[in-house]
Amino acid sequence: SQLEEARRALDAPLFADLAGDAQVSFEFFPPRTEKMEQTLWEAIQALVPLGPRFVSVTYGAGGSTRERTHATVARIQSETPIPAAAHLTCVEASKADIREIAEAYWEAGVRHIVALRGDPPVMGSKFAPHPEGFAGAADLVAGLREIAPFEISVAAYPETHPEAQSGQSDLDNLKRKLDAGANRAISQFFFSPDCFFRFRDRAAAAGIDAEIVPGILPVSNVAQTRKFAAMCGAAIPPWMDRLFEGLDDMPAARQLVAATISAELCRKLYAGGVRHFHFYTLNRAELSYAICHLLGLRPKADAQEKAA
Ligand code: FAD
Repeated sequence: SQLEEARRALDAPLFADLAGDAQVSFEFFPPRTEKMEQTLWEAIQALVPLGPRFVSVTYGAGGSTRERTHATVARIQSETPIPAAAHLTCVEASKADIREIAEAYWEAGVRHIVALRGDPPVMGSKFAPHPEGFAGAADLVAGLREIAPFEISVAAYPETHPEAQSGQSDLDNLKRKLDAGANRAISQFFFSPDCFFRFRDRAAAAGIDAEIVPGILPVSNVAQTRKFAAMCGAAIPPWMDRLFEGLDDMPAARQLVAATISAELCRKLYAGGVRHFHFYTLNRAELSYAICHLLGLRPKADAQEKAA
């Protein structure tokens, strides 16, 4: 099976032997303050020379970052040579609101939307569609398709979305999103390559042939990641705690451990045939840059010039 094949490949190749044929994309969140804006732009300027396929900007819970997401996406689109993708959710938005937002993106030259259902603004409450809005991501994809010929990415959950009735029903939903016109899926973060390979096998068995891009979260703060993981259907394996034990007051050592863990995950995914990695950068360049470097990526002269 594909899984056994991937397992066999796990011992090879070493970083030193990687062909440099991996492609990447980077995810950022819209900044809340001027200082955060500066940090974000430093990260973007550091990562753009690696020539990512696209960079994406998240949309705050309940549409709370509508303007900031737009401003960040529009700036990336106009000031860097990399296509920008805007995340967009159905939460508290009517179909007319979504049309207005999507049309504004199209006018700003943005051609890629990451289409999501989103979570309710109050944590822990249940998603209820806007009375005149989209019922979920599949519905949103179909709606966007009617507005403009966007490239559309959707979310996938290797460890199953927490609200899903079952793994199979979640996979059926992913298929509906792709059948509605999405071009690819980007996965929630995960820490076991086998978990991703099994998901990829199940997706293939369900007739999904679109690209499923693994979402890579380089973790340097386990406590923070645990909070987030609990909400989004991702498990933090016990070994992760052990690897960060005793490093609370040693930020540099923590970064090195974080890079090693993520790079190992990427190396194993690469051995299993993965060639596109999506990084949750948390608006910091160093970890993602280091992992991309190990994967064989080097600055591309043209992207570097344009970024400057
Ligand atoms: P959907 O695909 O609509 O699925 C939601 C749930 O409903 C799933 O459990 C699904 O199985 C179930 N379901 C849907 N239709 C059916 C049906 N017909 N029958 C039975 N069950 C069904 N959130 C943000 O707020 N902003 C962001 O920018 C953002 N970016 C993200 C990027 C990525 C790559 C990922 C993986 C997630 C992101 N999220 C973001 C989180 C996402 O909004 C939440 O995980 C949300 O709870 C689900 O969104 P979805 O698009 O996967 O929903």
